Amino acid sequence: MAGKRAKVRLFVDAELGPGQAVPLSRDAAHYLFGVMRLEADDLVALFNGRDGEWTARVVSVGKRKGILVCVQQSAPQTLPPDLWLVFAPVKKARTDFIVEKATEMGVRRILPVQTRFTNSDRFRVERQQAHAIEAAEQCGATHAPTIEPLQPLDRLLGDWPAGRRLLFCDEALAGTSATPKDASDAQQWAILIGPEGGFSPDERQSLRQMPDVMTTSLGPRILRADTAAVAALALWQSRWGDWR
Ligand code: SAH
Repeated sequence: MAGKRAKVRLFVDAELGPGQAVPLSRDAAHYLFGVMRLEADDLVALFNGRDGEWTARVVSVGKRKGILVCVQQSAPQTLPPDLWLVFAPVKKARTDFIVEKATEMGVRRILPVQTRFTNSDRFRVERQQAHAIEAAEQCGATHAPTIEPLQPLDRLLGDWPAGRRLLFCDEALAGTSATPKDASDAQQWAILIGPEGGFSPDERQSLRQMPDVMTTSLGPRILRADTAAVAALALWQSRWGDWR
C-alpha cells in the first residue's frame, strides 16, 4: 500500500482540478509503473504549468497506459519573473547544462541564437524542451520554460520588443567595474551570453547601440559560457528577480 506522500513529480499536458482524471501517455506510464514501480492508490504530484501542483492518486495501472485522479491542490501556480535567457549553443553536454540550470534558476523562455562565432549550429528544440521539463519536475517548479528554435542573433535583435531590457554579458568588460548599478524597475528582461569564441566587434557595437541594453562584466575572470549563464542568472535574480 502506498505511503501518504507523492514520491514522484510529473509534468502533464492535461487539465488539473478537483476530481479531474488524467490519462497517462505511454512514456509517463512506463516511467511511473515500469521505472518508479508505483501501484494503484499511490500518490503522484502533477503540474501542467497552468493549474498549480496537484496530488493525484493512481486509479488504473497498465503497461503503456494508466489513469490518475486529482485529489487536491498541493501548491498554487507560480511563474518565474519575466526573464529570457538568450545564449549561443555550445557543445551538447554544456548546452544541456545551460537549459537545465536556467530552468532551476527561473526563466520564462530560453532562446538559442547563432552568433558570428557560434561553434554549434545544432539545437534540438524537442529534446531541450523535454530536458527543461525534467529539470522543472526535479526542482519543485510549477512552470517549465518555453524553448525556442535556434535563430540568428541579428534577427532577434532586429525584432527586439520595446521595453524589454537586455543584460548583455560582455567578456570585453571582464575585470572592469561595469556591473549593473542602476535601479531598474523594468518588468521584462533578457540575459545574453555569447559563445566560447565571444562576441565579434560588429555584434558588440550593434548591441551597445540598442536602447534597452545594459552591459555588464561578470567579474575579473573569463567564464565558460555555461558558467557565465548561471552566474548572470544569479546576479539578476538577486538584484531584480525572485531571490529578493
Ligand atoms: N573567448 C572569449 C570568451 C567567451 S566566454 C574570450 O576569450 O574573450 C563566453 C561568454 O560568457 C561571453 O561571450 C560572455 O557572454 C560571457 N562571459 C564570460 N566571462 C565573462 C566576464 N568576465 N564578463 C562578462 N561576460 C562574460
